[in-house]
Amino acid sequence: MPNTTPKPYRVGIDLGGTNIKAGVIAAAGWAGSGAGPGSGGRTGSGARAESGARAESGAGWADTGPGSDAKLGSAAGVAWASSPDGLPRLLAAQSCPTKAERPWREVAADMAGLVDSLLTELRISKNDCAALGVGSPGLIDSAAGVVVFAGNLGWRDVPLAAWLRQRLDLPVSLSNDANCAAWGETQVGAGRGCQHVILLTLGTGIGSGVVVDGRLQEGGVPGGMELGHSLLILDGEPCTCGRRGCLEAYASASALIRQARAAVSAEALPAAEHLLSGQHSLAGRPSDQPAAAGSVAPGSAAPGSPAPASLMLSLCGGDLTRLDGRVPFLAAAQGDAVAQRVIATYIKYLGEGIINCVNIWRPEKILLAGGVAAAGQALLAPLNDYARLRCFAGAKCFVAPIEAAALGNDAGLIGAALLPPDDA
Ligand SMILES: [Zn+2]
Repeated sequence: MPNTTPKPYRVGIDLGGTNIKAGVIAAAGWAGSGAGPGSGGRTGSGARAESGARAESGAGWADTGPGSDAKLGSAAGVAWASSPDGLPRLLAAQSCPTKAERPWREVAADMAGLVDSLLTELRISKNDCAALGVGSPGLIDSAAGVVVFAGNLGWRDVPLAAWLRQRLDLPVSLSNDANCAAWGETQVGAGRGCQHVILLTLGTGIGSGVVVDGRLQEGGVPGGMELGHSLLILDGEPCTCGRRGCLEAYASASALIRQARAAVSAEALPAAEHLLSGQHSLAGRPSDQPAAAGSVAPGSAAPGSPAPASLMLSLCGGDLTRLDGRVPFLAAAQGDAVAQRVIATYIKYLGEGIINCVNIWRPEKILLAGGVAAAGQALLAPLNDYARLRCFAGAKCFVAPIEAAALGNDAGLIGAALLPPDDA
């Protein structure tokens, strides 16, 4: 493909609490997804709305098809995507440990070092790079290029964009990592061709990004679009944000794991109570007695117990602390009624949160990323059924399909690389 722009490459960095990942994108001739020239702005704290770039919306929403021609390449994420129609391609990626306990300048220096290393590996001159985009966890002031607060990095008011701009002599854009993932998926992933996309990343928490009219929404001031911290249950479970009852507290991967562990513990109660009958109530059980859950050998019932051992417990080797987000789906697929109930309840929580999003934004697609989304149709089919039936005017209106994101762990750095430049 001939270079139609003087700077055909973009660089993206996904800054995480554990790893820093950087990639170089070939984006020659690329002008954004769907809306034509000038598309792809940001609105909100970094708002620099481009003139005359409002995209067509509405028509053809139901005809967007699978939405992605991008094919995920190697598991390492290095050979991303053929580009049958000039889509940006990820040429190479490198990563290193964040070691977040260090002073932020050391972390930033490693970020810059990754960029240098990648460009050397690819024999690409910095002069051929249009920009660097960075996705960071936490509360981000995109306009100022500042990480206002990032708990898992221990950062507060870090002027990351300015530091990297000076160090690398490249234009630098900064946004929240979930925003970047949503942007990447909309530009070249599962939301490609759509102008209105919501992405939820179901992990330790719930990250979220919203694209409306082909533009990444970042709120009026930093801290917007945190859909994981919208209320689901009044006075519900405590959330990491200090509030109670947030969607994150019920529909993150952590919440699913907590719900599954509670179900396993409750399932084990009859066996333990039988074992202890005539001695102690469960609540008064001395500490030297067998625990209610966790001491049952994998695949076997406790001696004298009328209840079978939990399949979920067996699948995690009898160690509840090893129960992860995959276990309930594995057990449910094997017909385990307890796991099926756990998943049905989880789908209600997540489904209600998604319905809120649909009723507010009426997007073309809802995309799910993160570990739980890897469950595929076991999650997506019942979730779509649940949401379709309950959205406002659901029977009369188009209801956004809920689909798995396509770019995997590369979404953040690809989206970061494709962020509109700060002077857009
Ligand atoms: Zn919260």
